[in-house]
Amino acid sequence: MLMASERRPAIRTVRGWAICALQEAGAIRECEEHGWMQDRADPHARERAFDIARRNPPAGVSTDEAAAEVRDVLNSIGDTCPECPPD
Ligand SMILES: [Zn+2]
Repeated sequence: MLMASERRPAIRTVRGWAICALQEAGAIRECEEHGWMQDRADPHARERAFDIARRNPPAGVSTDEAAAEVRDVLNSIGDTCPECPPD
């Protein structure tokens, strides 16, 4: 049976969700050339992402957990692409 091994740990799903929410809110973006996620350092966009987490957390995840994950993803993402040359 393949079913059991295909189950992913919940944290992976929540992290993926948090990245989607942050992109949707415009708080992070992907470098078009290299694909690294970048923090746009936009407080309003961050607020929108937390708003999404509070109002619409993924199934089976509390609003606190969803917001904590959004914060965690933000903390793990730099504000520049490591492969783009600095200005
Ligand atoms: Zn880049």
